[in-house]
Amino acid sequence: MIEIKDLVKRYGQIQALDGISFHVRRGEILGFLGPNGAGKSTTMNILTGYISATSGSVSVGGYDIIDSPVEAKKLIGYLPEQPPLYQDMTVNEYLRFICDIKSVPLKERKRQLDEILYIVKIGDMRDRLIKNLSKGYRQRVGLAQALVGNPQVLVLDEPTVGLDPKQIIEIRKLISALRHEHTIILSTHILQEVSAVCSAVVVINRGKLVAQGSVSDFTSAEGTVNKFVICVAGAAGKSDAQKALQSTDGVRRVDFVRMDKDSYIFNVESEKNTDVRRGVFNAVARAGMAILELRPIGRTLEEMFIDIVNKEPVQSEEE
Ligand code: ADP
Ligand code: MG
Repeated sequence: MIEIKDLVKRYGQIQALDGISFHVRRGEILGFLGPNGAGKSTTMNILTGYISATSGSVSVGGYDIIDSPVEAKKLIGYLPEQPPLYQDMTVNEYLRFICDIKSVPLKERKRQLDEILYIVKIGDMRDRLIKNLSKGYRQRVGLAQALVGNPQVLVLDEPTVGLDPKQIIEIRKLISALRHEHTIILSTHILQEVSAVCSAVVVINRGKLVAQGSVSDFTSAEGTVNKFVICVAGAAGKSDAQKALQSTDGVRRVDFVRMDKDSYIFNVESEKNTDVRRGVFNAVARAGMAILELRPIGRTLEEMFIDIVNKEPVQSEEE
């Protein structure tokens, strides 16, 4: 549905994007993840035709954003980082104004606006001035604005930034509910956001793509586990427990972490792509001990993200 190829963007000396390519399939919710200054907003501004790329191409629903901007933009609803809300309009006036801009046929407007107000749950705010709304409600108006014209694709730039935890959960729910009707690309620097609502992930850092895959790729699916924490207890001592673990086929390394009351906690590392959990279970049982906990610590999204951010010294970013 969205195809991004070799996107490069320079702002004078600053290389904001350094050759980014990825695609978003129809019906997917893609989490577009990266630390501040990574180039997320720049990518989204190019993708929606707000700014032009230095080089590279974007197509949406088969339409190139440069060659067929009208057709491409018709397919897109955009919630920018700072939604352009007119403070002195009421919610209703503002959304009608957006209908004008997006040329929504007059006879469809009422039905469409009623539906959008219902979806984003701001029906009872329709006659309020935007400047009198809370941040959470303003963000809903921003979402409503993106939904006008019923676009197939939604581009949401950090939709939960600045909201309180309750509002964050509500906005996430709302986005999840939209997944059935839309293809969504959502930028964030918050990892839980990705696990909470997204099906696929693209991670960028300093204008370069550094990882991509399905969300489950990053949450250590069974079979790829090669590191876990194990807590064992029983009459046999620490060294017997360690021996049992070490003697299991496929175990590469066992490190004692600490004692916790009568139990021992170890970090266990296995050979690549070897799931040793069953073997470990049997070995521990044979040693007359019991497993109290066994928790994979595969490369979670969080670990990976921290690796990425630590790899290169991040310059201080003036926003
Ligand atoms: P993100 O949204 O991931 O935080 P941005 O796309 O906003 O990142 O910014 C990427 C890089 O481009 C940053 O180094 C930022 O300072 C720079 N940048 C963004 N917009 C401009 C601009 N209009 N002029 C100059 N530099 C910019
Ligand atoms: Mg941004």
